[in-house]
Amino acid sequence: MAMISEQPVRDMRPADVFAPAVVPLTERGAKVAEIAAADAEAVDREGRFPKAALDAAKLHRLLGAQIPVEFGGEGASIEDVAEMCYTLGRACSSTAMIVAMHQTKVACLVRHGRGNEWLETLMRRIAREQLLLASSTTEGNNGGNIRSSAAAVDVTADGVSLVRDATVISYGAEADGVMTIARRASDAASSDQVLAVFTKEDYTLKPTLGWETLGMRGTRSTGFELRAKGVVDQVFAEPYERIHAQTMTPVAHLSWSSAWAGIAAASVDRAQAFIRKAARGAGGQMPPGAKHYNSAKASLIKLRALIAAHLDAYAAREYDERALSSLDFQSSINLLKVEASELAVETVMSAMRACGLSGYRNDGDFTVGRHLRDVLSAPLMINNDRILSNIATASLMSTVPLGLRD
Ligand SMILES: Cc1cc2nc3c(=O)[nH]c(=O)nc-3n(C[C@H](O)[C@H](O)[C@H](O)COP(=O)(O)OP(=O)(O)OC[C@H]3O[C@@H](n4cnc5c(N)ncnc54)[C@H](O)[C@@H]3O)c2cc1C
Repeated sequence: MAMISEQPVRDMRPADVFAPAVVPLTERGAKVAEIAAADAEAVDREGRFPKAALDAAKLHRLLGAQIPVEFGGEGASIEDVAEMCYTLGRACSSTAMIVAMHQTKVACLVRHGRGNEWLETLMRRIAREQLLLASSTTEGNNGGNIRSSAAAVDVTADGVSLVRDATVISYGAEADGVMTIARRASDAASSDQVLAVFTKEDYTLKPTLGWETLGMRGTRSTGFELRAKGVVDQVFAEPYERIHAQTMTPVAHLSWSSAWAGIAAASVDRAQAFIRKAARGAGGQMPPGAKHYNSAKASLIKLRALIAAHLDAYAAREYDERALSSLDFQSSINLLKVEASELAVETVMSAMRACGLSGYRNDGDFTVGRHLRDVLSAPLMINNDRILSNIATASLMSTVPLGLRD
């Protein structure tokens, strides 16, 4: 299991970051979560990037965890990543979502970047320097239609360049690099896409849109005009279509769902504390809100089971391209996102009803307002309606399982 040396974050110097590994990744994740939790309310109120949490994530080497050992990382699995996102989600939704998005980009690099010297060097840099990668898929008026791009990469003898109307790039201003999709060439079809990655020195970001939102305020998902230049190797050789099916979709949906489950679990924590207090105050008599607490617990159980089943399903197919691209797996991993996002909202709503006015208030120990505002982003983050309509045919063509564990 992945480890790092035991030492309080505040006492750590950059050199300590590269100390021999001795502390498990789960423990390091928990330490980062503590820091994220302490700052979560202020991050939400002020709508600012959770810098303290991300600094701690870098110190504890969470950002390079997935990088293979041969490139200086610790080869963390999708299970490790999901657990990390869940733990962080319990503490600060924005931190969890930032880490989930970063880990999705790193997963693409790890799986599809081997054999490309530039991309392998980037992997080494992520492990060593703990670079934070942002994601740019949303473009212009195209919304969440990730399988269609307007901007094209321009490949010349001098290298590659790209100008993109990136309407949403979470933590774009704070990231050390950005991974983006684009058309393969100016005469390519909108669905003939490539994946490219640029580090900060390769691009400029001109702000175009702010991020004054209901929730997830700390992701700072502002709009930019992205202008990037680099070498041809910064474009992945594999068509985006395959990267999308094999890595981007499964890892995004598993890590996002885990972050949302973490938010849901945090709201259940508060509902439990509220019901316990109310029951104690009433001499052991359960308050009327207890039934909503049970609903919250039940939907959290479903949500966690759904994620766990899909983690197993992905791990079982991770190195089998045909199985990953199958209609069964693709429709199932897309339905995971739809179901997980709805269950997460349902859980937080039930927690809110269990707490009543104490949950609705923005102050006090039992407030779940922030959790509700944050989790309401889940069904929109690649809109569930769009996903359902995209997978309608695959869903219809895929088999209905004969046995419980098929
Ligand atoms: C917290 C957060 C962080 C984000 N971070 C990033 C980021 O870092 N990088 C990035 O690129 N993007 C990011 N996004 C954007 C995200 O990837 C999606 O592009 C965005 O959420 C889609 O928003 P939308 O619902 O308005 O768009 P659309 O998908 O265009 O949907 C618009 C409307 O059309 C409806 N609709 C769309 N398609 C269909 C259909 N086929 N059938 C029926 N109805 C349909 C929807 O129901 C919706 O009402 C982020 C979003 C959130 C919430």
